[in-house]
Amino acid sequence: MARYDFRGPRLYVEAMLEADATVTLERAQAHYLGTVLRLRAGDQLLVFNGRDGEWSATIVGDRRPAALRIGARTRDQTPAADLHYLFAPLKAARLDYMTQKAVEMGAALLRPVLTRHGQVTRVNTERMRANAIEAAEQCGILSLPAIAPPIELGRLLAERDAARWLVFCDEDAEVANPVAALSAVPPSPLAVLIGPEGGFAEDERAALLKQPNVVRLSLGPRILRADTAAVAALALVQAVIGDWRGV
Ligand code: SAH
Repeated sequence: MARYDFRGPRLYVEAMLEADATVTLERAQAHYLGTVLRLRAGDQLLVFNGRDGEWSATIVGDRRPAALRIGARTRDQTPAADLHYLFAPLKAARLDYMTQKAVEMGAALLRPVLTRHGQVTRVNTERMRANAIEAAEQCGILSLPAIAPPIELGRLLAERDAARWLVFCDEDAEVANPVAALSAVPPSPLAVLIGPEGGFAEDERAALLKQPNVVRLSLGPRILRADTAAVAALALVQAVIGDWRGV
């Protein structure tokens, strides 16, 4: 990967970014830059908005940060891999972790999926979004994933676009070489599905396996916790059929 500035602070903003633009900071952003990072007027950072690439910026304000003056573009916008991450939601701290890791692994959309044995039915998508932004800021990712509202598994399957291949991580699948399984998927948009801590119910599994363009993936001879399974599955998918292969 091309080197770029990993050490400098990076901030996600909503505003359009172009040379010489001034972006007013929201309260939380001003607090983060001024109080958490102890930056002052005149200090430099990098900013991105998920659309216009990454830009250098200078803090302006009366000592404390109030706005940003946008300088030059430091990196062009890169598109996210066309990869959806579908998952049975977890409780707060592990959901935070899972969200951050899915962003780091390059998911373009995160969607909670409600299943029979899931213990969590309400999902704080605002909190997911905050975690996604933080992960993108820290990891140098330029495209922020969309956070979709939760959906029931049955509805997801009824409404899904079958052109998007579904990588179904099934704890009951026979252990088999995951690289070979994924290599059978033709070039296409992708979705990865991870189930709840309680596992998939038999009828859910049957409905998933009846779907067209589904690949049933084993993640090895051990049952992984859902957040570990997320990282393992996304690493395999990115390496074999995703954006780790280069062009
Ligand atoms: N309670 C279940 C485990 C669920 S683990 C049981 O004991 O059988 C949560 C999710 O992680 C699973 O639904 C699956 O999507 C994924 N997962 C965990 N280990 C896996 C494995 N070895 N192979 C495939 N998927 C796995």
